[in-house]
Amino acid sequence: MGTIEGACNFARAGRGVVETSGMPNEVTVIGAGLAGCEAALRLASEGVRVRLCEQKPIKRSPAHHSDGLAELVCSNSLRSDNPDNAVGLLHEELRRLGSPVLAAADAARVPAGDALAVDRVIFGAALTARIAQHPNIQLVAEEVRALPDGPDLVLVCTGPLTGEALAAAIATATGKDALAFYDALAPIVAAESIDYAIAFAQSRYGKGDGDDYLNLPLNREEYEHFVRELLAGEKVAPHVFEEPRYFEGCLPVEVMAERGPQTLAYGPMKPVGLTDPRTGRWPHAVVQLRREDRAGTSFNLVGFQTRLTWPEQKRIFRSCIPGLANAEFLRLGQIHRNTFVDAPRVLARDLSLRARPHLFFAGQITGVEGYVESAACGHLGALSVLARLRGEEFARPPDGTMLGALLRHVSGEAHPEDYRYQPTNVIWNLVPPPEADGFKVRKEDRKRWLVQRARKQLAAWAKLSESAAA
Ligand SMILES: Cc1cc2nc3c(=O)[nH]c(=O)nc-3n(C[C@H](O)[C@H](O)[C@H](O)COP(=O)(O)OP(=O)(O)OC[C@H]3O[C@@H](n4cnc5c(N)ncnc54)[C@H](O)[C@@H]3O)c2cc1C
Repeated sequence: MGTIEGACNFARAGRGVVETSGMPNEVTVIGAGLAGCEAALRLASEGVRVRLCEQKPIKRSPAHHSDGLAELVCSNSLRSDNPDNAVGLLHEELRRLGSPVLAAADAARVPAGDALAVDRVIFGAALTARIAQHPNIQLVAEEVRALPDGPDLVLVCTGPLTGEALAAAIATATGKDALAFYDALAPIVAAESIDYAIAFAQSRYGKGDGDDYLNLPLNREEYEHFVRELLAGEKVAPHVFEEPRYFEGCLPVEVMAERGPQTLAYGPMKPVGLTDPRTGRWPHAVVQLRREDRAGTSFNLVGFQTRLTWPEQKRIFRSCIPGLANAEFLRLGQIHRNTFVDAPRVLARDLSLRARPHLFFAGQITGVEGYVESAACGHLGALSVLARLRGEEFARPPDGTMLGALLRHVSGEAHPEDYRYQPTNVIWNLVPPPEADGFKVRKEDRKRWLVQRARKQLAAWAKLSESAAA
């Protein structure tokens, strides 16, 4: 039986360590949320002995309320279960790999259209019981305040609200500026939904390649109308524990607008060095769009991190920004408390910390976002730790799968070189487009094609039969 006990001191003596290929067959997982539970159960199912350290019930983050494991802190929805949707396809891939979190979600399902919504009590209780009963898992109740020394492998899954002491230790191990405490996400639009009769490609004063950005010009009247709408738009109230302590470098666009009617025109919307080819002049203001992915299938609105509600973002950006009238938003802006490492810089391709390779990271702390993505990252973290234990190289899932897409994001491979790393849900533009494989696919057939490619690649990688796919 698993046990809850104190004293997670990581002393090696007297633990009866089983050896595999000369490596210790015991792993510490810190944090029993979505990622930690997924990882612990996956490792334990392979015969690895797991010490799972969880601070609850001794201490809870401001967002965690129950004493159970794998707590869903907010919505009870794991979002769309339709494989035509990126997260729905991720569900499918996790099911095919035997994910314990997906199994618990399926067993706790409540009716919610094509979303996978769950009874959170049944869901959490099922995973808590599986962990408590697993003979290979020892559940230890303790707040871990320091990063353990090697050589035993450790998987850190402490999530977006990692406690202060451990966060400080992570900052020391990664370098201070490699750990963020808030995310600040600007909306992303599909490239094909931008009006190119209005947008012009140009870098300020022709720097870089001269046309690295797309620019959406506004005249004075359009700009002032936009600022009025921005100020009046409905905003999401911050949680009590995330009183706004914004970094000056990534203030919400509406907070900048509150500082004065022309502040944005001197800030992220400044037009200097950008000549609109239709007028031959600098406009009054511009919205700049920067490539989000190497293939150029999507663009983010530079400097437009925002707390506007999602319906308000769509309404205001479509109606007030020339060129975005028909914009398809692949992601909307948001800002919230979120502890995450600058993964492309500090993590190796197998999710281990470059500076201290016995430490692995998984879940939201790596910069993935959402319940399902965090569980998926926990699964990948477990596979990577398993590979290390066996003395093998981690065989990453192929790029076209949604699991591969998450790793492409975390390693930075899905993004341009100047990308400022920010968390993301799984979205289609994280996988290489069909053109990267030499195919030209019509817009209406694109998703089906991507789904088929993902299924094929997953089957080959996981040595599963394709018929078991759907
Ligand atoms: C307020 C809020 C609302 C959210 N709403 C949603 C939503 O509606 N939908 C969605 O998909 N995602 C939502 N998220 C994101 C969601 O929380 C994560 O995607 C997911 O829970 C992350 O999984 P994780 O395992 O990485 O972290 P968590 O699920 O947070 O698990 C981390 C675990 O580690 C434990 N822990 C932390 N520090 C220590 C320590 N030092 N020692 C021991 N244990 C520790 C915690 O107690 C916790 O059990 C929300 C996040 C927040 C903060």
